[in-house]
Amino acid sequence: MRIPILAGNWKMNKTAAEAVALVQAMQADLLAIPAVEKVLCPPFLAIPDVSRLVAGTDLHVGAQDLFWEASGAFTGEVSPTMVREFCDYVIIGHSERREYFGETDETVNRKIKAALGVGLRPIVCVGETRALREAGKTESWVRGQVQGALVGLSAEQVAGLVIAYEPIWAIGTGLAATPADAEEVCGGVVRATLRALYDDAVADKVRIQYGGSVSPSNAYEIMRQPNVDGGLVGGASLKAADFVQVVRESARAKGA
Ligand code: PEP
Repeated sequence: MRIPILAGNWKMNKTAAEAVALVQAMQADLLAIPAVEKVLCPPFLAIPDVSRLVAGTDLHVGAQDLFWEASGAFTGEVSPTMVREFCDYVIIGHSERREYFGETDETVNRKIKAALGVGLRPIVCVGETRALREAGKTESWVRGQVQGALVGLSAEQVAGLVIAYEPIWAIGTGLAATPADAEEVCGGVVRATLRALYDDAVADKVRIQYGGSVSPSNAYEIMRQPNVDGGLVGGASLKAADFVQVVRESARAKGA
């Protein structure tokens, strides 16, 4: 019912030339994997080249951030329209942006609205720290982040979102959540919050990714979980063979 979606978040890695080489190394293999939506999220300066390379194929391009204003004196920022020229998706509220660049639920909400306003599909990131998990606060924290991100959004707008549950302790650490823990938060917290805020139809439409040390060896078991509709992949998306294998394993897990 929900088309699984795998997105590679390249973070601040790859020059434009390196990005082109990476796409060339995996494009044919990725396109051969059926029934899974694939999104590549290079750094801004590599986006135009990557976008030209995948134009007309089933590969989508996403940005890693945007600013909410349409234009003007905002030195260093990139507007929604500028992103939309090349991208279908945009990652919003990644934990690294929240931690290092002061993003809050409020700015995440503004960015989501700005992205939707130009027809971009947001991938909204939420997730708890290790301290919050150990204090038993995962559920209330993640629920609060989802509520904060969605303030003022219509059911129709929310139904088109992708939400990535990314426990911060699992990002880049090699310590992925267990499949059961991923399912518990993706289904029992994120989707349950959508059900409470909107209705069954909306909750059942939103695609919820798991992110945090997804690798070729753990992707199958994580993606087999019924409320995990794909993954947001960092480190493993920087190597062609690894990302192809993650996507392949995800497709296999979903019976494609
Ligand atoms: C990420 O940054 O979104 C991420 C999940 O990274 P990694 O896969 O490297 O843990």
